[in-house]
Amino acid sequence: SRIVAAFRERTPGSAAFAEQASDLFPSGITHDSRHQYPYGIYVTRAEGPRKWDVDGNAYIDFFGGHGSLLLGHRHPVVAAAVAEAATEGTHYGASHPREIAWGRAVQRLVPAAERLRFTSSGTEATLMAVRLARAFTGKTALLRFRGHFHGWHDHMAGGYSNHFDGTPTPGVLSGVAEQTVLLDANDLVGLRAALAARDDIAAAIIEPTGASFGQVPVEPSFLHALREETTRHGVLLIMDEVVTGFRVARGGAQAALGVTPDLMSFAKILAGGLPGGAVAGREDVLSLLDFGVTAKAGREKIAHQGTYNANPLSAAAGTAALEVIATTDANARANATAATLRQALNAVLAEERVPWAVYGTFSGFHLFMNPEGAVIDPLRFDPLAMPASALKNQPKDLAAKLRLALQIHGVDTNGRIGGVLSSTHGEAEVRGAAGAL
Ligand code: PLP
Repeated sequence: SRIVAAFRERTPGSAAFAEQASDLFPSGITHDSRHQYPYGIYVTRAEGPRKWDVDGNAYIDFFGGHGSLLLGHRHPVVAAAVAEAATEGTHYGASHPREIAWGRAVQRLVPAAERLRFTSSGTEATLMAVRLARAFTGKTALLRFRGHFHGWHDHMAGGYSNHFDGTPTPGVLSGVAEQTVLLDANDLVGLRAALAARDDIAAAIIEPTGASFGQVPVEPSFLHALREETTRHGVLLIMDEVVTGFRVARGGAQAALGVTPDLMSFAKILAGGLPGGAVAGREDVLSLLDFGVTAKAGREKIAHQGTYNANPLSAAAGTAALEVIATTDANARANATAATLRQALNAVLAEERVPWAVYGTFSGFHLFMNPEGAVIDPLRFDPLAMPASALKNQPKDLAAKLRLALQIHGVDTNGRIGGVLSSTHGEAEVRGAAGAL
């Protein structure tokens, strides 16, 4: 098609690298979300809200390092902290002062993180959260919500053909699916029924603003109800704050929405754009990782290893980023610019009479491509009035073409045509994105 031809013409360097990668990595890529036809862009440089590909094309970046860059690319304070740390060594095989500063920086913003353990990723953080919950409660089942993403370990894996429906994805034992209770978020009747019907549920895990950072939003009242119902039934509430943590507010979704979880997972912004995650929460639950406490209680301690836990470079980047977040209006700025962007994009859709809508909360946005042809007004669109399936099931071919067309016009979004903003995005980026659309 014309779009593909125009993309190829702009990106010969990316095409050459994609060719080299094709017999190296499955699909030539290192993360499923980088799968793109005819190939994805290869990027070599990024600064603030922008990044540049190997052919020198500039992009307004709404991918934001998969959400890890609330402060934009190469924030000077974060970059300097990493450079300084790198001169002092990258791994000591020992405890180090930077991990204490990092942990205190988390606690300062999230008081419910009474104890924490660093991991290398968000996937590892939810894995440990679930293990802790099962060990603490002595129960086995896990309650989760359709479409909510919590990483790719066995207990969270959802395939593409059976997207998170609870049936096992290839390579995952069927017993895992049997221990999963899958519900629709916002369905309070279903939640109450599930909790009344089973007494083997250890924990409920949720993306607090909704599936895929609010692509299918969770009503705040449902989150409050989930807190109450889980407490009543002795079920631990795990808030997966991997995307929302330190983004929607300094203290994450738990601060923004006023709901305190028992356990939480962090990654992304936590480590300032470097690899890193954390599981955190109640002292009595995290004490299952404590040698002394478990020995005294005659309990078997839960093992926790990980070569790169609290890596000094990640600790330096994370501490610096959290310090900037604690002392500036970075969250509020990203949220405000995102609201302006959503409005500007909807104004374009309304003017062009395209029956789509841009929506979202905090610093995110999602494009609703109206797969069922509903009558909507982009300027008055309410995602909570739509069926979740309509929000989640974007027309894939159309989204792929639109993403390519936006890239040709210098804008990079995620594959669902949405993304996140940083505190460095401003009016120029809003104008640029509206112009591209
Ligand atoms: N939980 C949520 C809500 C996420 O968005 C992600 C990643 O996008 C994860 C967990 C997994 O984190 P990681 O990619 O660091 O393993």
